Amino acid sequence: MTRQRAMLMETTEPPAKVLIVEDEPALLDALEYSMRKQGYQVLTAVDGRRAVELAGVEHPDLIVLDLMLPGIDGLEVCRTIRKSDNVPIIMLTALSDEIDKVVGLEVGADDYLTKPFGMRELLARVKAQLRRVRLLRAEMAGTGHQEPPRSHLVFGDLTIDKDRREVMLANKPISLRPKEFELLLFLALNRHMVLSRDLILERVWDWSYNGGSRTVDVHIRWLREKIERDPSAPVRITTVRGVGYRFEG
Ligand code: CA
Repeated sequence: MTRQRAMLMETTEPPAKVLIVEDEPALLDALEYSMRKQGYQVLTAVDGRRAVELAGVEHPDLIVLDLMLPGIDGLEVCRTIRKSDNVPIIMLTALSDEIDKVVGLEVGADDYLTKPFGMRELLARVKAQLRRVRLLRAEMAGTGHQEPPRSHLVFGDLTIDKDRREVMLANKPISLRPKEFELLLFLALNRHMVLSRDLILERVWDWSYNGGSRTVDVHIRWLREKIERDPSAPVRITTVRGVGYRFEG
């Protein structure tokens, strides 16, 4: 792509839609003001329930999410949104000891800032996340793929359609049992993260006891038989010895 064309694309791009979730009125105002000044389209929510609702209806391009919220807290909001959307999420937290949880596999935020933070720092993080997503889309477009609908997750020749619950491999539909689909989706939404068997059980099967982990292993084996070129030497879903599994893409 020529530089001129790249610039043109940049300027004709519609403004990014940012959802800000913060219950502190003064901070919410300041955030909203700064984001609008950057040209972003801004949506706001002051509690977790509204945040989940807006995320589902408005499909923002990015979410800035406070950790401490009345009702459903930020961690739960993040987890809930992550089940169906890979929108970038930047968490705001006052508690430095929560950070591991926030960016770790438990919650799945993309980035975080510890309060108090500078507005300039936040704007830089927002810009970086939006750029990351845009590059990802451009990359897909550059490889001859049309930009997939938002309900699609694309990993090379593997496509997961979240809404229709369909999976395509090399343009051919593959048939998955309901739990296999949910397992694949959970792995894919947490790409590159090491997921323990217990965590997978809890999220995909809603079980929270130990001992059912063989169920996970069996389903992983079935999935590998369907999506790996060589199921005995898997490259998409790898085993992390002693811990669990990781989706590589
Ligand atoms: Ca708060």
